[in-house]
Amino acid sequence: ATITNHMPTAELQALDAAHHVHPFSTQADLEKSGVRVITGAKGVWLTDSEGSEILDAMAGLWCVNIGYGRDELADVAARQMRELPYYNTFFMTSHVPVIALSAKLAELAPGDLNHTFFASSGSEANDTNLRLVRTYWGEKGKPSKQVIISRWNAYHGSSVGSASLGGMKGMHAQGGLPIPGIHYINQPDWWSEGGDMSPEDFGLARAQELEQAIIDLGEDNVAAFIAEPIQGAGGVIIPPETYWPEIQRICDKYEILLIADEVICGFGRTGSWFGSQTVGIRPDIMTIAKGLSSGYQPIGGSILSDEVAAVIGATEFNHGYTYSGHPVASAVALENLRILEEEKIVDTLRDDTGPYLKAKFEEMAEHPMVGEAKIIGAMGSLALTPDKGARAKFAADAGTVGYMVRERCFANNLVMRHVGDRMIISPPLTITKGEIDTLIARAWQSLDEGM
Ligand code: PLP
Repeated sequence: ATITNHMPTAELQALDAAHHVHPFSTQADLEKSGVRVITGAKGVWLTDSEGSEILDAMAGLWCVNIGYGRDELADVAARQMRELPYYNTFFMTSHVPVIALSAKLAELAPGDLNHTFFASSGSEANDTNLRLVRTYWGEKGKPSKQVIISRWNAYHGSSVGSASLGGMKGMHAQGGLPIPGIHYINQPDWWSEGGDMSPEDFGLARAQELEQAIIDLGEDNVAAFIAEPIQGAGGVIIPPETYWPEIQRICDKYEILLIADEVICGFGRTGSWFGSQTVGIRPDIMTIAKGLSSGYQPIGGSILSDEVAAVIGATEFNHGYTYSGHPVASAVALENLRILEEEKIVDTLRDDTGPYLKAKFEEMAEHPMVGEAKIIGAMGSLALTPDKGARAKFAADAGTVGYMVRERCFANNLVMRHVGDRMIISPPLTITKGEIDTLIARAWQSLDEGM
């Protein structure tokens, strides 16, 4: 029989369990309660096969920045598919959607980040960066500069290269990762790791680990430092204000390329167009994906500075994907950027809904289970704790309590994720004040039930 939205949920769940291998999931979890089958979405709301309306406080996977259900993107995709569904950008060819998108990105991106190499995802874009920075230094006559410094608990993707750039130990443990030549320093998570230090001193100390690593590895061996302006999948780690200026100083001093992974932070998430602007850095390369198309099409890329693009352009960069600059994905991304800009979605988040969300979200620190409630733009994190004063962690398996709270949220028709015992949100940037009230009420209720 044809499988449709109208099939009973139990049958869809059984077929899913029988044939679909899910990312980052165990079969036992999937079979315990059965997946929720999402059948439609509008704005910040998902509909499932039972007809429930679920508030998506994660914007899918941090990507549906303009919200679900925008017909303009569907119309652009259909038009582009009829006109030119596919052509490649390898052999001295280009097409209008990718030309227009590249030019638009050059206009939006800060400083002299004017040149984009396209991919279909953040993982592919970071794989590009890995080869690109090593090639760059080779072309500059400094081929020993090969090591890339990253951070423990960073997430830069799931491909072998990008998961190696990432600092998730559980990912390294599978498949013999990381690849050689990646070095990790600690993340600036004051609440969990700051001990008796002030946040300012801790931020400086964690940034200075970069300097120490460069000295230990030898300046002539280090190619780049890669980091998310605000760490996302690691638990929305908002660094102390002292952190990023010190990182920028160190990158400048030792001639280290700075790669800002803007896959989550880009396109308004932090209340500026790019997270680099929010934290005040000048990257040489930015990784983009997710919010670039609001998730309506798979597209990502690396935006390069004038200087990096000139050096790479002087040789043949032996790298590219069949779907680099895919015309349909490019056209949809361009339309998404038009909507973000013309509807002033980033400005509204910065000046109006963002401050409202911040006030409401930070009030959650009053809940007995919440140690820290921090948010920047539309990217927030609650650290769950059994003892606020001591900034204590739950003793048993890290993540058990977070997992349980997440299940409570889901039962209450709210999608929040947990990272260990942190609960995180990243709703569509278009969320209204009324929807923020609903989000917060459901989160409180779920925490109360979790006590
Ligand atoms: N970089 C960051 C910061 C991310 O959060 C992600 C995905 O969550 C990626 C890279 C990987 O992107 P993708 O899943 O599109 O490959």
